[in-house]
Amino acid sequence: MAVPDLDQLIAKGVGGRRVLVRADLNVPLKDGVITDDTRVRASLPTLRRLREAGARVVVMSHLGRPKGERRPEFSLRPVAPRMAELLGTGVSFCEDCVGEVAKAAVADLGDGQVLLLENLRFHAGETKNDDDFARALADLADAYVNDAFGTAHRAHASTAGIATHLEDVAAGDLLRSELEHLQVVREPERPLMVVLGGAKVSDKLAVLEALAPHADVLAIGGAMSYTFMAARGESTGSSLMEPERLDDAKRVMQAAESTGRRLLLPTDHVVAERVEPGAPCRIVEGAVPEGWMGVDIGPATAERYAQEIAQARTFFWNGPMGVFEIPEFAAGTERIAEAAAASGARTVVGGGDSLAAVNQLGVGDRIDHLSTGGGASLEYVQGLELPGVAALER
Ligand code: ADP
Ligand code: MG
Repeated sequence: MAVPDLDQLIAKGVGGRRVLVRADLNVPLKDGVITDDTRVRASLPTLRRLREAGARVVVMSHLGRPKGERRPEFSLRPVAPRMAELLGTGVSFCEDCVGEVAKAAVADLGDGQVLLLENLRFHAGETKNDDDFARALADLADAYVNDAFGTAHRAHASTAGIATHLEDVAAGDLLRSELEHLQVVREPERPLMVVLGGAKVSDKLAVLEALAPHADVLAIGGAMSYTFMAARGESTGSSLMEPERLDDAKRVMQAAESTGRRLLLPTDHVVAERVEPGAPCRIVEGAVPEGWMGVDIGPATAERYAQEIAQARTFFWNGPMGVFEIPEFAAGTERIAEAAAASGARTVVGGGDSLAAVNQLGVGDRIDHLSTGGGASLEYVQGLELPGVAALER
């Protein structure tokens, strides 16, 4: 079984047919104004190709977490004019994503025209993958395209259920490109170097467990590293640490050891008295002293990780090395971003905060792939099947 792509769907002929596209238009809004339109832009290539092929394009998405209720602050309405501007054509908007009003709006579409439906999550059936709701969505279309990589790890009505009701389906260009780039991490040219950071072992335990025996080198940074240090019996001062994850951390280290992989932990740290700008801070080697907390990997650790990145053929990074939101604690994360940009390896970066760090440094265009889906990219590199992709298999 394989997942049809947009070429295959278009080759079947979409002219005059209603094609329902699940996009990821979950944009940040402030007082009804889009503050970052990256996701709208990312959705355009698929929409353009379908329009050019003469399809009647119906776009659906979620926005935020309205939890099954119609809450105006989560309306997708502000996205329609932005999409229209970027596409260079009108985009009509329908105030519901199912029912008579949606059917009428779809019936009004001419070939090559675009309609945006209201937030899927105004209906509780969306996240429950309710079959009646999935069927109501499918009723609007002749074919279905999933281009929402960021929600492909969720089995929702618009990402999974709907695909059981329509025969003609395809992965959109964004989804396809994500899968192709992340596949490189699943089947890497070796050595594969992985850097994982961020706040919690709990958030990333599954990926740690999957990658410890898979990556040639797994380097850990961020608050996560203190749970690993504690599991090794080192003192971590008042750093963030998850006592209930010590056994998990030990298991991850054993998994690396028993498969002959290397797992690296920070050997020096930036420590501060408090997590705030201007707080007293210094660099320490080894353990974190009492009364101090680790807020970034130290310069020697950053250098060692950067050297490993330079030697890798494949590099995957998720999660900042410290509290990079505060400039004094951002050096470790910046060093990793620079090393990724300079590396000759295939480089893939995922995770909201890691992408923010890469963009903050302006090195995004020197990274091979910036993954738009944090959770989905982690699940995919673990080797898991994504429900939103599995549903497209034909
Ligand atoms: P991503 O979004 O890239 O997956 P996470 O959400 O897992 O990353 O983690 C990012 C958060 O982790 C940031 O807000 C950062 O401030 C925090 N963080 C990183 N290192 C530390 C640390 N040593 N102490 C406290 N918080 C940290
Ligand atoms: Mg995050």
